[in-house]
Amino acid sequence: MLTSTTTQTTPSTSTSTSYSRYQKTLSQTLARLNISEKEANFFKEPQFIHKKEIAIIRDDGTTALYPAFRVQANNARGPFKGGIRYHPLADEDEVKTLAALMAIKTAVVNIPFGGGKGGIQLDPKSLSKKELEAVSRAYIRAFKDHIGSDIDCPAPDVNTNPAIMAWMRDEYEKETKTFSPSMITGKPMSFGGSLGRDTATARGGFFILEELIERTAMDPDELRVAIQGFGNAGMHMAHFLHNAGFTVVAVSDSHGGIYSPDGIDPVRIEKYKRNTGEVTGEYCEGSVCDLNRMKYDNVERITNEQLLEIECDILIPAALDNVITEENAPRIKAQYILELANGPTTPEADEILNRRGVKLIPDVLANAGGVTVSYFEWTQGRSGEQWTAEKVDAELKRVILDAYKGVRRESYRNKITYREAAFSIGIKRMLDAMRARGWV
Ligand code: GLU
Repeated sequence: MLTSTTTQTTPSTSTSTSYSRYQKTLSQTLARLNISEKEANFFKEPQFIHKKEIAIIRDDGTTALYPAFRVQANNARGPFKGGIRYHPLADEDEVKTLAALMAIKTAVVNIPFGGGKGGIQLDPKSLSKKELEAVSRAYIRAFKDHIGSDIDCPAPDVNTNPAIMAWMRDEYEKETKTFSPSMITGKPMSFGGSLGRDTATARGGFFILEELIERTAMDPDELRVAIQGFGNAGMHMAHFLHNAGFTVVAVSDSHGGIYSPDGIDPVRIEKYKRNTGEVTGEYCEGSVCDLNRMKYDNVERITNEQLLEIECDILIPAALDNVITEENAPRIKAQYILELANGPTTPEADEILNRRGVKLIPDVLANAGGVTVSYFEWTQGRSGEQWTAEKVDAELKRVILDAYKGVRRESYRNKITYREAAFSIGIKRMLDAMRARGWV
């Protein structure tokens, strides 16, 4: 039942896919940097694409098969690194794009990793806990020959969490008969995790915003923020911003969102989300809402599309990719966009936003706090040390702000956007390592 293919890749000819959109930004970077054809070819496709169909026995006794992927984009700078997502839309094209972005990201923050990504095409909400554990262990059995702390180190991504990382490490250690605390990151504290990993993605983005507004002499309490997505990144970001005095005017999850010009209290949202599964849970049960209460609290229910166009100063896409497009980019009101999600903006939207003077902090920098603390966790696993929360926070701040300042400098000097600057820095660092190895 288990089908498996591993390919060493050749250039693709696909057109309007996520990967072709990524390739557009990549080609512009390669042209700008004047990179030779031979060297440029190395960046155009991942080094390896591993695909398998993984099988589990469901609680009702039937067998279910799920397509699963591990894409290894580039390991010139160190082991492949990147999360595993569980999503109905996780296909080869998406995982390939996300793997390539990871290689740029680890280079932008200058940590000793390459880039990879994994995915299982399924809806995790349709599985019981037992089934979720079975599918997570099956993933590791399927790809165990391609992962390991010196080879390829996975981590959480959309719909995966520390409990899943723990099952994966346990399965890997059983299968390989090794002690391998650093084969995966984002583990629970009780099983080799690092302090600060759960809040790291949001924390990194928050450090960048703090630095940005300090330089522009703005005050948090003058700034309204809208956040799309209330998963790990979006939720922690809402807390950091609210606690620092920003007004969080809108949040959402996959069911929809909530808006209040007076500001929303993320503590209340989190409580209702936990109990009802929805950020609107305080006011609505499914599609039925208590309109009187909403009016009293000056709260409105909004869609995910409306959230992106809401009246605010800072927009934070923290959910899925390709949500800011040429269609809605002209109507975005925010002055600043901080991409906590991976790939939320299409290249066409990028151009429109840039023309309109919207300042965008790209994913490969804005959400790099997650993989940075993964690196700290990987290091701790290898040395047997346990860092304090203060040390993690201080080191994360140093790494992220160094990267941010580097991108800002590159952007100003070459009159290019922050995304273009981040890609330039990432590609140059990868190329330096490839040249040093004699690959090109
Ligand atoms: N999934 C996260 C990302 O996209 C974290 C990856 C990691 O920690 O390896 O950056």
